[in-house]
Amino acid sequence: MTPLDTVSLLQRLVALDSTNPGGDEAAVAGVLAEVLADAGAEVEVIPYAEGHVNLVAELRFGPGPRVMLNSHLDVVPAGAGWSANAFAPEVREGRVYGRGSADAKGSLAAMAGAVVDIVAAGEVTRGTVVFTAVGDEEVGSTGARALVENLEVDACIVGEPTGVQLLAAHKGSLRPVIEVIGRGAHAAAPHNGVNAISGAADLLDRLARHADMLGDRLHPLTGAPTLTPVLIEGGQAPNAVPERCLITVDRRMVPGETAEQVRAEFERILDDFSRDNAPLTARIAALAPSTGGPSETPADDPFVLACRLGLSAIGEADDIGGLVVNCDMTTFRGAGIPTVVLGPGELGVMHAADEYVPIDQLERARRAYRAMVERALRELP
Ligand SMILES: [Zn+2]
Repeated sequence: MTPLDTVSLLQRLVALDSTNPGGDEAAVAGVLAEVLADAGAEVEVIPYAEGHVNLVAELRFGPGPRVMLNSHLDVVPAGAGWSANAFAPEVREGRVYGRGSADAKGSLAAMAGAVVDIVAAGEVTRGTVVFTAVGDEEVGSTGARALVENLEVDACIVGEPTGVQLLAAHKGSLRPVIEVIGRGAHAAAPHNGVNAISGAADLLDRLARHADMLGDRLHPLTGAPTLTPVLIEGGQAPNAVPERCLITVDRRMVPGETAEQVRAEFERILDDFSRDNAPLTARIAALAPSTGGPSETPADDPFVLACRLGLSAIGEADDIGGLVVNCDMTTFRGAGIPTVVLGPGELGVMHAADEYVPIDQLERARRAYRAMVERALRELP
């Protein structure tokens, strides 16, 4: 088995453009497959959909729990504003720069390093380490969904940029498109119409009051839910009373809230609005695509406890936090798998120009993954 340098592996991964859509996930999977096979893993690269692959690598040490390390192969488009080529990774100031360096190829490189370290140390005597790298996390999460259909594991660590902090909960989102319906008329005779845009102003006030109230629903790990009007569109001509106005709202949900409950709250607000503003009416016309629901793994779950013990044993902080954005954890929790999230890189650089990951965090994450996996393999039934 060849020693594995985290930084050079990460540079190789970043140099392979796996932009979703259209990028080459299989090339990234190929490099990881080579590294894991060299460490003695049984490796499979599964093309599960047009342009998308999942990588599954298993190292069996004996009977016992199956603990998974997971992250994603795809990256978001580079976008504008880079000071260098997004796919020609550069190392400077103790950081690796490039698209995907933090989200989430830094996690993949650190996880592969941890697998190599676990094998080299030879301390594990039971259970199976499952390393998976999935396609399409950034757009449709189809890779994670295909994975859980065919793979059984007892616990999962998802690699996403958390600044190497252990997270066990994340928010979800629902995006109702609200339609305010009035009546069109010539703008020279506005009394003949019912102005949907003027009506929308009252609706926005009601939504703002509801948003203030949501501040009370503080979740200990993710913070409070939020409600943000994000798109507005209305009117039909510069000389007409607008008959319609569409407002799209981004509503972030915390663990414990469900899409049904949140939708019902919106419907109550809209019913009150329609009653007080007749003949104006408002309704939910559609739901814009969103990232899916919130999820959490209970703080007293044995896997969460094992991860905390593993981290504290190597001198890392062992307190649990929550993530304000979504990730594949939602799919794994949906399949009933106790899941935590941890990875190198800061949330703030995700999807931005000049994305980078600090090298010290890469190395800390590599040690953290090993410590958590070894502890879980020892302690889980
Ligand atoms: Zn990610």
